[in-house]
Amino acid sequence: MQVTAESVWGECLKFVKDNIQPQAYKTWFEPIVPVKLNSKVLSIQVPSKFFYEWLEEHYVKILKVALTKELGEQARLVYIIKMENTFGNKSPFTEKIPSENRSSIKSQEVDAPLRNNYSSELKNPFIIPGIRNLKIESQLNASYNFDNFLEGESNRLARSAGIAVAKKPGGTSFNPLLIFGGVGLGKTHLAHAIGVHVKERSPEKTVLYISAEKFTQQYIEAVKKNNRNDFIHFYQVIDILIIDDVQFFSGKSGTQDVFFHIFNHLHQNGKQVILTSDKAPVDMQDIEQRLLSRFKWGLSAELQRPDFETRVSILRNKLYRDGVDISDEIVEFVAKSIKSNVRELEGAIISLIAQSSFNKREITIELAKQVVDKFVKNTKREVSIDYIQKVVSEYFQMDVSTLQSKTRKRHIVQARQLAMFFAKKFTKASLASIGSQIGQRDHATVLHACKTVDNLSFTDKQFRKYVEDLSKKLSI
Ligand code: ADP
Ligand code: MG
Repeated sequence: MQVTAESVWGECLKFVKDNIQPQAYKTWFEPIVPVKLNSKVLSIQVPSKFFYEWLEEHYVKILKVALTKELGEQARLVYIIKMENTFGNKSPFTEKIPSENRSSIKSQEVDAPLRNNYSSELKNPFIIPGIRNLKIESQLNASYNFDNFLEGESNRLARSAGIAVAKKPGGTSFNPLLIFGGVGLGKTHLAHAIGVHVKERSPEKTVLYISAEKFTQQYIEAVKKNNRNDFIHFYQVIDILIIDDVQFFSGKSGTQDVFFHIFNHLHQNGKQVILTSDKAPVDMQDIEQRLLSRFKWGLSAELQRPDFETRVSILRNKLYRDGVDISDEIVEFVAKSIKSNVRELEGAIISLIAQSSFNKREITIELAKQVVDKFVKNTKREVSIDYIQKVVSEYFQMDVSTLQSKTRKRHIVQARQLAMFFAKKFTKASLASIGSQIGQRDHATVLHACKTVDNLSFTDKQFRKYVEDLSKKLSI
C-alpha cells in the first residue's frame, strides 16, 4: 500500500484514540486535516494557533510516539495553522511552523501567554478595577430567578433542566444546556435564573452572563487591538458561561471559531456552558457544523408558548408581587386574549394598571377590553406588506430586492410566492395592490402564488414547515 499523508495520519489517529478520552479526541484530533507527507515529515493543518498551542502543551508526547511508530526515529511533524478570516475582506493566509523549532517556540511564545496568571494584563470591561485578584462582574439580573419563573407544561423540561444545572453546574450531562424558543417566552429569564442561583449558593464561582451580540463586539475589539489571546484567556477562566441569543453568531465565522475554542476549553475542564437561541439547532443557519454538533452534546430544551393556565398564573403572580388586586374575570380575559408571548402578556397587564391609575378609573372588564384591543391592534398594525417582505427575506436570508427581482430561480420564486400568500392572508390589500408592491407583478401572478402555496403546503413537508415558521413569525 502506498504511504500517504492520509494513511500515516490515519494510523496515528488510531493510536491516539486508544490512548486518550473520547471527548478530548473529538475536540482536538477530529478537526485536524493531514496535508502532505514529505519523506519523514508529515504536515497537518490545525484550525488555529490556539489549537496548535493546546496540542503542543497536552499531546506532543503521544503524537511523537504515534508518528515515530509510523515513520521511524526521523519522523517530524509540521503544523500548518489555518488563520481565521474575521472580517471576510482578506484572503486567509497560512503560517508554517517547522517541527525542528518546536521546543524553542514552545518556551518563548507559547508558554508565556498560556501561563499568564490573568491578573495583571487582562483588559476587559467586566473586570472590576482596583481589585487585585481577577474578579468578574456576573452581569446577572437578580430579579430573574426561579421563584418567579412560573412552571407550566410549556416550560417544564427547560425549567427542570435549568434547576439541575444550577444545582450542579458542569456536573450534569446537560452541558451545554441550550434553551431555545420564540421571542418573549422566557429564555433570558431562565438563563439568568441559573446564574443567580449558582451565585447565591457558591459566590466564589465565576459566573458570566453575556449576550452573543456583546461577545461578538468584544471579540472584534480584541482582534483590532491585537488582544485575541487575552480575550480567549478571559473567557477560559469562567466557571459558568451564559451566552444569550447565540443565533446572533450566524454567518460570523471568526466569532464562531473563537467561541468554539473557548467552549472546548470550558467543556473539557468541567465548566458549565448555557446558551439560548430563538431556533432549535437543526434550524440554525450559517453556524458551522462543528459548533452545531457541540450544541447538541448536552441538552436542547424548548420553551413553548404557555397554555392558558400558565398564562393565568404568570399574571396572578405578577399582580401579587406588584400588590395590585384585579378580579379573576379580568385576569382570565387578558390571558385569553394574549397568547403568543409572555412579554406581551405582562405588557398588557402593566398598561392596564397604568391606565387605571393615571385616569383614576377602576379596573373593569370594559377598560380591560379597551386596553387589550389597543394592545392587540397595535401589534397587528405592524404587519404591512413591507414588513412581510422583510420577514420572509430574512427567513430565507436574502435581500428584499432579491425577493422582488425578476429571477426564476426556484428558491427565490418560492420566497416571493410566500410573501404574496402572507400579504393576502394578513392584510386587507387587493391582489393587484399586493402584486404592485411585491416586485411589480399583476393580480393573476398573486392569485397563482396563493394557489401554489396552498398546494405545496399540502404536498411538500419542507414547504409546510416554511409556512408554519413564517406564520408564527408574522402572527406575533
Ligand atoms: P426571551 O428571552 O425568550 O425573549 P424573556 O426571558 O425576556 O424572553 O421573557 C420575557 C418576559 O416574560 C420577562 O419579563 C420574563 O420575566 C417573563 N416570563 C417569561 N416566562 C415566564 C415564566 N414562566 N414565568 C414568569 N415570567 C416569565
Ligand atoms: Mg432574550
